[in-house]
Amino acid sequence: MKSFKNSMVTLIMFAQVFFVAYANNENGQITLANVQYLDTTSMKFRHVKFLNLDSGIIHSMGEKRLHGSELLDLSGKFLTPGLIDTHVHLLMSESDTKRVPEALNDVLLDGVTSVRDMAGNNQLISDIQAEGPDIYQSFLVAGKSFFTDPRVKFASMPYQPGEAPWQYQVGSDFNHKDFELKLKNSHTHGIKLYANIAPLHIKKITEVARNHQIPIYSHATVFPSKPSDLVNAGVETLVHAALLPWEGSRKVKEQYHSRPRFPNEHVDPRAPQFEELFADMAQKGIFLEPTISLFHSENNSQPTRITQWVCESLRLAEEKKVPLVIGTDNMINHDQRTSNIHKEMSVLVNTCGLNATTVLRGATLNGAISLGLENSLGKISVGYKADMVVFDENPLKDISQTKSIHVVIKEGRILKLSDSKI
Ligand SMILES: [Zn+2]
Repeated sequence: MKSFKNSMVTLIMFAQVFFVAYANNENGQITLANVQYLDTTSMKFRHVKFLNLDSGIIHSMGEKRLHGSELLDLSGKFLTPGLIDTHVHLLMSESDTKRVPEALNDVLLDGVTSVRDMAGNNQLISDIQAEGPDIYQSFLVAGKSFFTDPRVKFASMPYQPGEAPWQYQVGSDFNHKDFELKLKNSHTHGIKLYANIAPLHIKKITEVARNHQIPIYSHATVFPSKPSDLVNAGVETLVHAALLPWEGSRKVKEQYHSRPRFPNEHVDPRAPQFEELFADMAQKGIFLEPTISLFHSENNSQPTRITQWVCESLRLAEEKKVPLVIGTDNMINHDQRTSNIHKEMSVLVNTCGLNATTVLRGATLNGAISLGLENSLGKISVGYKADMVVFDENPLKDISQTKSIHVVIKEGRILKLSDSKI
C-alpha cells in the first residue's frame, strides 16, 4: 500500500514536467491549405484546398476557408489520420510510473494519437496527467490460475491480484450476472481475454460484450481455447500472430504458463485450417494484430523461425483479406524515445512483404473500428476528431517514411512544427 501511494506522487510530479509547445491558435480554428490527405477507405491520397478544424473536430473540407482561422500550408506534404497503437502496457511495474508521462509525450510527437492499454494498473493510468495520446483502457479477463503471474501484482494494486475493479477471474463457478455487473462498474473501454479460459466461458463472455456493445479482443490462443474457438465465439480482434500456430497443433496446453514458445510438432502456416480460420475472420471482419516487432529486430539479416512462420502466416492472412490492426505491446523504445509503431509497420512491409496500404489502414481506420470508434476516429472526414499526422514523404511508397513527421495534430492543436509556417 505504501509503495502504491509513492507511485502516485511520483507520477503526478513527473507529469508536470513534460508539456509540448504548440502553435498559436487561440480561437481553436485552424485551416490546413493545399492538403493531400489519405482517404482510409480507398487508401488513396486525395487533394482538398482547405481542411478547416474547429474545436478539435474536422469542421469542413473544400474551397472555403474558415473566416479568421490560422493558416497552415501543407503543399507537397502527406496527411493521414493520427496513428493508433492498439496494444500497449503503460503501467506494469514501479519503474514505469516514473517514465510514462515522458513516454506518452514522446509517442504523441511521433504521430501516435490513440493507444489501447491491454491491461495494467487502471487506477494509476487514470491519474496520468501528461500530454499524450488518448488512452483506452481494458478489463482484464483470465482464468483464476493466471492471476499468480508476477506481472499481475503491480497491475492489481492496491487490490489483491485478480480482485481489482478492472479484472475478472474466470472459474468453473462463472456467473454471467456477476461478470456483467463487474464489467459495467469497471468503466473500462473494452475486454481483454488473456489466458486460461475454456471455450464455453469464452462464448458466455463474448455474449455479454456483444449485448453491451463493448469491444472484445483476445490473445490469439487463450489456452486451452484455440484461435478458431475465439473466432467462433465472436471475439473482434486476435492479438499476437505468434500465438496462431496452436490452431494447427494437435495438443493445446490447458494453461498459458505451461506452453512452449512454439508447438513442438511441425505446423504448416498454409495448412487448410489456417485457410479456413482466415476466411472466417475476413468474412466476420475480425482483426488480426501481429505484434511482430516484439520478437523480430530490424537489424537481423536472418529472420528467426518464429518470424518466418509469422510472416508466412500474415501473407496468407492478407491474401484472404483479414483486416489488420497495428499494436506494439511495448509502446516505446525508451533509449531512442521513439514509438515502436514505426518499427512494427516497417517489419510487416519490409520483412514480411505485406502491402503498405494494408498496414497503414491497420494503424488508422482499422484501429478505430477495433476500438468501436469508427464514427469519430480513423478518417479524414467532416465531424471526425482532428487527430492527424503530416509526413514529408509518402508512406505508401516507402513505409519507413512514417518517421518523416512534419507535424502532429491532436484534437485540432498543432504539435511539433519543424519550421515556422504559421
Ligand atoms: Zn500485451
